[in-house]
Amino acid sequence: MTADIIDGKAAAAEVRAEVERGVAALDTPPGLATLLVGDDPASAIYVASKRKQCTRLGMRDLHQHLPADIGQDELTTVIDDLATDPTVTGILLQLPLPRHLDPAPLIARIPPTKDVDGLTELSAGRLTLGRPGLRPCTPAGVMHLLARAGVKLEGANAVVVGRSALVGKPQAQLLLAENATVTTCHSRTRDLTEITRRADILVAAAGIPRMIGPDAVKPGAIVIDVGMHRLETGLCGDVDTDAVIDIAGMITPVPGGVGPMTIAMLLQNTLHAAELATAS
Ligand code: NAP
Repeated sequence: MTADIIDGKAAAAEVRAEVERGVAALDTPPGLATLLVGDDPASAIYVASKRKQCTRLGMRDLHQHLPADIGQDELTTVIDDLATDPTVTGILLQLPLPRHLDPAPLIARIPPTKDVDGLTELSAGRLTLGRPGLRPCTPAGVMHLLARAGVKLEGANAVVVGRSALVGKPQAQLLLAENATVTTCHSRTRDLTEITRRADILVAAAGIPRMIGPDAVKPGAIVIDVGMHRLETGLCGDVDTDAVIDIAGMITPVPGGVGPMTIAMLLQNTLHAAELATAS
């Protein structure tokens, strides 16, 4: 049996259309402040894509491109100004930053109500405690794909490979919040394959090209591939898709799976932040 393909492109298009309708219903369009520090080419591409989609959906693009040699204090002031500016709905500090800057205290300056990346300590704490808040975009996108595919999470064995603050940890929390039984694996996990083979839902977010092979997947499992690698042979994920496709029940492709969801969820978070600001 060949796995059903979970279509992230179609899902992201639906989310964008819904966000566009939500934006049109607001009196004032939300404003997204993306902060790009320096000239890292990959970051520049990501930010350009976020800005393009933001304006396409009717939001205001409040982008700032800051010099690579900006100081920690100066950047703190930029974020503090955005934090108190009522025309700014969401603040996104594009990572990684130049080496002389310490990201943690900068991220901490973003108020949780404007934390559209969901990466501040307050947002992480709210997620862990099951309180309302803005959730990190990539794991939120995975949850959206699972819900859209009609995957039953309650009581399911979910295994997350990876424990980063960006993906693995919030992913595990989001699955737990939906009553899955969650195991988080990492670089020191013993017998990884033994554990992943028990997963009804397997989320691969280790950052190692095609590390999840057919021996690591239970027949019929839902396999979500968060990994994204640009190899000489083309794009691939953390899952060896060709080898796993006849074993899994459903699988996300790379590209076209989780990737398109990340920006869609950023836009949804920005709309959500605007709605919350309007309500308060
Ligand atoms: P990361 O910060 O490098 O974290 C990788 C995690 O994987 C760490 O927790 C690490 O464990 C674990 N790990 C490493 N080797 C392992 C192994 N052999 N077995 C089990 N676990 C292992 O990466 P990330 O930011 O979470 O991203 C993960 C992947 O997702 C990357 O390929 C990235 O490009 C991709 N990504 C895609 C999107 C998207 O929009 N599609 C967004 C974000 C990330 P330790 O904690 O023990 O080191």
